[in-house]
Parts: sequence; structure tokens; C-alpha cells
Amino acid sequence: MKPNGLAQPVQPAVKIVANKGVLVFDMDGVLVDVTESYRETIRRTVAHFTGKEITRELIQDYKNAGGWNNDWALSRKIILDLGIEVEYQIVVDHFQSIFFGNGSDGMILREKWIANGGLIERLQEQYRLAIFTGRTLAEAEVTLHRFARDLRFDMVVADDPVRPPKPAPDGLLEIARRFPAEPMWYVGDTVDDARSARAAGVSFIGVAHAANPRRDELVALLRAEGAIAVLENVNEVESCL
Ligand SMILES: [Mg+2]
Repeated sequence: MKPNGLAQPVQPAVKIVANKGVLVFDMDGVLVDVTESYRETIRRTVAHFTGKEITRELIQDYKNAGGWNNDWALSRKIILDLGIEVEYQIVVDHFQSIFFGNGSDGMILREKWIANGGLIERLQEQYRLAIFTGRTLAEAEVTLHRFARDLRFDMVVADDPVRPPKPAPDGLLEIARRFPAEPMWYVGDTVDDARSARAAGVSFIGVAHAANPRRDELVALLRAEGAIAVLENVNEVESCL
């Protein structure tokens, strides 16, 4: 990882026709469907250490409570709540072994890109585009390389050991410092995303997918945290800008 978790632009910058501001995307659940990747890896990690099968509703309940943006920490917490104490690093190692597999059978390969063809291209004619994700930079780059090799993001802020994670505002503030005095929006799908935006003074656009196991509750939570809109899908984002 580069110092302070910044990636170089994925592609050389293209000319912005009319700069209306900075549009920042969360990655998981917004640009990328991780139902069968991170969420399933949590389930399998918990099953490995506890012998118990948990539901996706249970995982969403922890996410909706806030503070569980880190899926390694969340896996360990659920295992602990089921009565088993496991060292953090052991949970991380097992989680990663499922997530990446042997390189050809990992859960990461089950991810799907959500943004329809043309969406990012249209947006980048009017906005600077950035990503603020809880992923490590390496995990973000693998997925961007797979699905978005031809798309340009001006800045990718990934998890960094020295920067407080979401719901802290630090990642968004880092993007704001790069583009001072420009209007900014953050598009995210969790309570922690909304709290991060509010603490950074950035407008928040929520995403709650129809397939989310606790969708109605999530919509209400995101609205209560100050979302200017809650979309079913990132492909609707142009309707509220
Ligand atoms: Mg997310």
C-alpha cells in the first residue's frame, strides 16, 4: 500500500466537460454486489469456528447497528457472541483463505459490478469521481481491475492502518482536501457510511437494495442519519444530483 492509502488514478484523467463537484462512492454494496463474496465469507468463517450457520439477516442487523464496517472484526464479534473466543489474526487468516481461495475458487470471484455500462462514463463528464472504501487497497484494486479497467476514478481512498476507519470522516476529509471548495456527495449503503458523511459535512446519498434482508429498516436508518435520498440502486444516482 502506498503511504496514506492513496491509489494512483486507475486511468489517466479525461477532460471534465462541466465540473459540478466530487462524487464519492462506497464500493461494497454500491458499485459491487458483495452478497456472495464478503457476506458469504462472513457466514463461512463463523460456521468454521462455531459450527453454526448464521443468516444474512443477522449480518445485516450488525451492519445496521453501526460500527461493524470491518468484516474481519465483525466475523470475530459474531463468533464471540456465539460463545467462542478466537484470536483476531486467526479469524483474519481464515477469512482471507476463503475470500481469495486458491486463486481460482475464492469468494472474491463471485462479485458482480452493479453500475450499468455508461453510468460512470456519463458521470465523469460532469463530476470528479472518487472511491472511499473499507477494503484494503489491494482488494479494491483487484476488483477495479476486473470490472472497471477502462473507467477513471480521480482518487481511491482505501483502508489504512493509521487513519481511523468509517464511521470516522477522515477518508472523506482527505478527498475534500484534494479538491477544496467543491461540492461533494458520498454514495453509501450503511449507517457507518452515512455517519462518516455527516461528520465530514458531505451530502449523503443512501443505497438500499431491494434484495437487502432488512431493507425497510435500512431505508429508515439512512434517512434518520441525514440521507438526501435513498436509492434502490446506484444506477438511479443521476436522479438525485
Ligand atoms: Mg458498503
